[in-house]
Amino acid sequence: MRLKLLQVGEPVLRQKARELSREEVLSDWTQALIVLMHQTLRDAPGVGLAAPQIGEGIQLAIIEDLAEYSRDLPPEEVAARERTPVPLHTIINPRIVSYGEQKVEFFEGCLSLNGFMALVPRSRDVVVECLDEQAKPRTIRASGWYARILQHEIDHLNGTIYIDRMDTRTFASVENYKRYGGVLSSPQSLSELKTAAED
Ligand code: ZN
Repeated sequence: MRLKLLQVGEPVLRQKARELSREEVLSDWTQALIVLMHQTLRDAPGVGLAAPQIGEGIQLAIIEDLAEYSRDLPPEEVAARERTPVPLHTIINPRIVSYGEQKVEFFEGCLSLNGFMALVPRSRDVVVECLDEQAKPRTIRASGWYARILQHEIDHLNGTIYIDRMDTRTFASVENYKRYGGVLSSPQSLSELKTAAED
């Protein structure tokens, strides 16, 4: 079953989600929600889904980056993004406790802002503390694309969307990103684009 993906403008996407208690995490309702969110994420498809995106203002998100999602991308793009498969897992009540100093910029999109992308600067490395779906404390040390996914999803749980952080002049339709993106996705061209954007 696919849940409805709320689009930007829905108030729940702009509110800080509430934390879940251990009992709530282990409840049948939450466990069923995780399964439905996973089906929705696979169907989209996407690499991350936060509960506010399906209308639930709770601090819960799921992440899964399958190898097949990168199969058709240029290898140099996959390498530049440091994108490696991430198995399905759930983050609950997450906090980013450490940001790496290095920032990297790549195009990203959002299932709640269908059809658009933009360059978003984010930390290359983060450390996240959260609970897993069994309510067990976890510490996640992530870098590369996985670190970006974590930052994007945790933003959702705090009412923030990538458009709040993007380089606004790079905002593009997916159609145009595909049309020009092959050029824009190489680091050299990105710096050219940024230079152009500063004109
Ligand atoms: Zn999103």
